Amino acid sequence: MKQILLGCIADDFTGATDLANNLVRAGMRVIQTVGVPSGDLESSVDAVVIALKSRTIDPELAVSQSLDALAWLKKAGARQIYFKYCSTFDSTSKGNIGPVTAALMKALQTSFTVVTPAFPDNGRTIVKGHLFVGDELLSDSSMRNHPLTPMTDSSLVRLMQSQFSARVGLIDYKVVSKGHLAIRDRITELTKEGIGAAVVDALSNDDLMQLGIAVKDLPLVTAGSGLAIGLPQNFGLKPNQSHAELPHRNGWRAILSGSCSEMTLKQVNHFKAQGNPCYEIDPMELSGSTKCIADAIDWAKDQYSRGEGPILIYSTSSPEQVKAVQKELSVKDAGELVEKAMGELAQALVLMGVGQLLVAGGETSGVCVQSLKIEQLQIGPQIDPGVPWCFSKTPSNLHLALKSGNFGREDFFTYAWSVLD
Ligand code: ADP
Repeated sequence: MKQILLGCIADDFTGATDLANNLVRAGMRVIQTVGVPSGDLESSVDAVVIALKSRTIDPELAVSQSLDALAWLKKAGARQIYFKYCSTFDSTSKGNIGPVTAALMKALQTSFTVVTPAFPDNGRTIVKGHLFVGDELLSDSSMRNHPLTPMTDSSLVRLMQSQFSARVGLIDYKVVSKGHLAIRDRITELTKEGIGAAVVDALSNDDLMQLGIAVKDLPLVTAGSGLAIGLPQNFGLKPNQSHAELPHRNGWRAILSGSCSEMTLKQVNHFKAQGNPCYEIDPMELSGSTKCIADAIDWAKDQYSRGEGPILIYSTSSPEQVKAVQKELSVKDAGELVEKAMGELAQALVLMGVGQLLVAGGETSGVCVQSLKIEQLQIGPQIDPGVPWCFSKTPSNLHLALKSGNFGREDFFTYAWSVLD
């Protein structure tokens, strides 16, 4: 097996796919793994993205899982390590971005790294160390109300410093706009001053391309998925469509949607309005009986006796309906019931002959991948920003697209298949 060039550790599953997608588009062949791989890679690639679920777990556990991932990536030959977190810097004053960064730096024996969640293509920009989400400061965006990681400060320097013991500095846009040589000089200055991590401003993809060149020799970079566009050039790689090629599609087509995000609701309604076959799962019916799942499976078999699909099975509901169900069952129980059902449905669909599966919802995707016992995903062509088609050879030759809540265009459920054709 060829040695890999870039080793990536992502703190959640759909975030890992987003990063892998950007690397493929910039010219790398990429495999994403679910947790630290237990065996060899299924094909030779330039980069491996290890997807952890470490964003909101106990910081010590996040550190130990990240160090296990690092050990595997180093053994696979990685010349540079990329720690990927959310483009809205989802974290608390306890971590986990700071503690994981510090532990990776220590293990890699490096005293300096960069911090940049910027992703201009998705409206995440950084000015004077302040993170903007679209036109709003992070602290004014809907992220201020996030249930697990409420983001009430927009200063990345302050946020990082609150969870990181070495000093945090800034490389601002005045330096970044002068290009990679100026950024590199500033890195040298900051290192001499004893700064351990520097937040880097970025307003455009060009800023990230320049930063990419400037960080060529750093053993560790930490970022959202945006910086990925600037790294393959350091290894002599250029965008190459053939690196996104997947094996030929086969089997029937299905969509499982457990996301209740605004965009997913629009996508479900659009798919329905086109007259496509749809089956709704009612969480209230799931409580105490599995008949609803068996009925959905029978319905799917009946649909495939008439054609290859795509068919849609969904629990997607309006915010009012979701609140009513949550009031009746509790937020946790409602979520778990639907997730369990989606995992079982994914298994049943693949068993009956589905070979192309689209899953909507971050948590829902995680559950489906787990229940299908998928450990490695080869990353293919992009459908929409942040969502590529993937292919899993083991256990069952499956093409898979995993869409987190608000990603994708309104006609995503009808459009996505054309990318595989
Ligand atoms: P997103 O990426 O849009 O946040 P997720 O899959 O991560 O989607 O999260 C959606 C959560 O909502 C899951 O836990 C899912 O089980 C739950 N859920 C899905 N449908 C319903 C529903 N009709 N009522 C209550 N909870 C639901």
